[in-house]
Amino acid sequence: NKQVMLRDYIHGFPKESDMYITESSICLKVPRGSHGVVVKNLYLSCDPYMQLLMKINQGHGLFAPFTPGSVITGHGVSKVVDSGHPNLKKGDFVWGTTGWEEYSLITTPESLFKIENTDVPLSYYTGILGMPGMTAYAGFYDICAPKQGEYVFVSAASGAVGQLVGQFAKLMGCYVVGSAGSKQKVHLLKNKLGFDEAFNYKEEQDLDAALKRCFPKGIDVYFDNVGGKMLDAVLLNMRNHGRIAVCGAVSQYNVEQPEGVTNLMCLFYKRIRMEGFAVFDYFPQYSKFLDTVLPHIRDGKIVYVEDVANGLESAPSALLRLFSGRNVGKQLVAIAHE
Ligand code: NDP
Repeated sequence: NKQVMLRDYIHGFPKESDMYITESSICLKVPRGSHGVVVKNLYLSCDPYMQLLMKINQGHGLFAPFTPGSVITGHGVSKVVDSGHPNLKKGDFVWGTTGWEEYSLITTPESLFKIENTDVPLSYYTGILGMPGMTAYAGFYDICAPKQGEYVFVSAASGAVGQLVGQFAKLMGCYVVGSAGSKQKVHLLKNKLGFDEAFNYKEEQDLDAALKRCFPKGIDVYFDNVGGKMLDAVLLNMRNHGRIAVCGAVSQYNVEQPEGVTNLMCLFYKRIRMEGFAVFDYFPQYSKFLDTVLPHIRDGKIVYVEDVANGLESAPSALLRLFSGRNVGKQLVAIAHE
């Protein structure tokens, strides 16, 4: 059983050498009397939160940090090869937390979602139909409380979460602008993902001016994936009674000194609501989410861009792509055939 292990706790940006591949044996039968399942892992999801778990004391009570010398865990799509659980049988497909390895013994299968709809690509359960999709859904509809015709801004807009937020906003009849870190991504936002406007934040000298150019009347809803200087510039450009969903702050995960927010008083002047949320709190609403999103995928009203690396050996480098912005769309790793 090939596995990706964490070498030691990291400081700053993760490097490929912080992870290594090893091989060990695994019994493909669940232990007698266990309610667990043994799964063959098919797709591994690369997610920004994983780097926080490589650092000491960064779980913030939401996640259990990784242990040096142990296999890395994350979200993935897997096939059940043996089961001691009454609701799961051999051959079922599931998504949820699994190991970065060929086969995993999962002792708490209650946390897995059984995949009932297999007419869409199975890899989608690492993205649009999995944790990032739920994040876009909960953050946009619940936290942002959008209304038709509103002005919506999304940062890291071409990524796993952002590309879906933009499409939800368009379906709602909003005006949507996204920021991303390359020409290719800006092109994707405007020409494939249906954003009204997009800009490359790396090419803008003045983020405030870029936002004023795209939103002459101001922003009603900001779906914040990056935090930092972008958030600060957005605050200046929010309209009264605007809403900001604090989804993540990927620009700040590796800085020594937090940078950016000096315009926090805008919350007061403009009566803006800014609220953080954790997708896990919304997992009980997963079937409602599927009922909303699956029909849009089937009739082509929502599309999804994936960036697929191949083979378990490529998992460490695939994860690192998130932090340099080299991923175009949802980053995942295909490690086995169904
Ligand atoms: P993405 O697919 O968007 O990948 C990460 C992207 O972040 C990169 O492609 C890059 O895009 C951008 N990025 C990287 N470094 C920086 C930087 N220094 N400044 C600005 N942008 C940067 O990731 P996800 O869609 O999976 O995640 C998006 C956000 O959502 C993250 O902050 C994540 O932590 C958060 N999240 C929160 C959840 C919750 O429960 N609240 C659940 C899941 C995710 P670019 O080229 O555009 O710079």
